[in-house]
Amino acid sequence: MAEPILTQTIGVTLKLRPTCAQAATMQRWLWHLTAVYNWAVKTIERDAERRVYRSTFDMYALVNGHSRRLEIPRSAIRGTIGTAHNAWQRAFHRVSRRPKLKGRRRPLNSIAFSQANKRPIRGRRIYLAGLGEVRFHEQAIPDGKIVCLRVVKRASGWYVCLFMNAAPRTIPRVAAGQIGIDPGFSSLLTLSSGELIEHPKELKVAALRLAQAQRGKRRRLTARIQERIANRRKNRNHHLSRQLVAENTFIAFSKDRIKAIEKRFGKSTASAAHAQLRSQLRYKSLTGGTKFIEVPSRNSTRTCSACGALTGPTGWSGLTVRQWTCGCGAEHERDVNAARNTLFAALGTSVESRREAASGIASKATSRGSCLVAWGPLPCTTADLSTPI
Ligand SMILES: [Zn+2]
Repeated sequence: MAEPILTQTIGVTLKLRPTCAQAATMQRWLWHLTAVYNWAVKTIERDAERRVYRSTFDMYALVNGHSRRLEIPRSAIRGTIGTAHNAWQRAFHRVSRRPKLKGRRRPLNSIAFSQANKRPIRGRRIYLAGLGEVRFHEQAIPDGKIVCLRVVKRASGWYVCLFMNAAPRTIPRVAAGQIGIDPGFSSLLTLSSGELIEHPKELKVAALRLAQAQRGKRRRLTARIQERIANRRKNRNHHLSRQLVAENTFIAFSKDRIKAIEKRFGKSTASAAHAQLRSQLRYKSLTGGTKFIEVPSRNSTRTCSACGALTGPTGWSGLTVRQWTCGCGAEHERDVNAARNTLFAALGTSVESRREAASGIASKATSRGSCLVAWGPLPCTTADLSTPI
């Protein structure tokens, strides 16, 4: 079992309760910082064409004195330049696309502070440079050092994201299982034990109200509904990843080519948010002492999990085939088979021992039935759901 780690950089988001004057000031800063961001993006681009690469400190030197003229704290200007610099660095290293300019259609919605005060939080107030003390909604904040912070404007109001070096929340272990996971769209996840985790379909539930708001050109309401959908999705993924890490010491996740699937299935791919779930599983496994392995999904559906032969359905046309029988006599449910193959690939199980392992899993799955597991409040375990209460 992997050892849990002691400290890591964790993000904590607080909802601010600024006064009208403070909110107006932040709004004014955003307007000016949009220009600073665009200037930084264009300057770095023009410099790169001439093969000149400046460090962030060289960039800071170019805007010396502007903080006084714009009446914006220096650390906010530096933070914005740092954001643009970082965006170009990612583009130069081909991690992401080139940064786009901000404007009315794509507004700048956050103010980064390059430095945080040593102890900015006092009671239920946080000190922000240039604004003074700002109240926030009460929330538990872990003990630790705040490295940097960022004020974010969302549809529902102003927030501050703190990045702190602190001990992560521990996840109590409730079982020591090994699991292979195959992500899907009709059911959110299929586990190698034969369980299906249903898809709450947050987007579909709110689609009617969203469409009404969009038709009525109510932009603020639209943004608010979209934010709420994203919050629900994130909350569901947090519950689910925590539950999976608490129950398993070994997790193998089938890593699909999300981009290719997204081109074909669009909305449903985005609404499942598998990539978010995967990243949550990754960092929670580190703190929970679980071994997490991502396995390429190539041939995971085609391969028979009992004998290893490539007899299963394949390609886009094979998507409709949900159940099939292999030449060796094994009957497969498509997604469960893929989840088992993922687990076997991560464990490095040989073909000879697969039959034995698969039969063990199959008997376990049939005894429990392929029940729908709702992602409920912790510590509700999947083992609890199968036993009659
Ligand atoms: Zn077979």
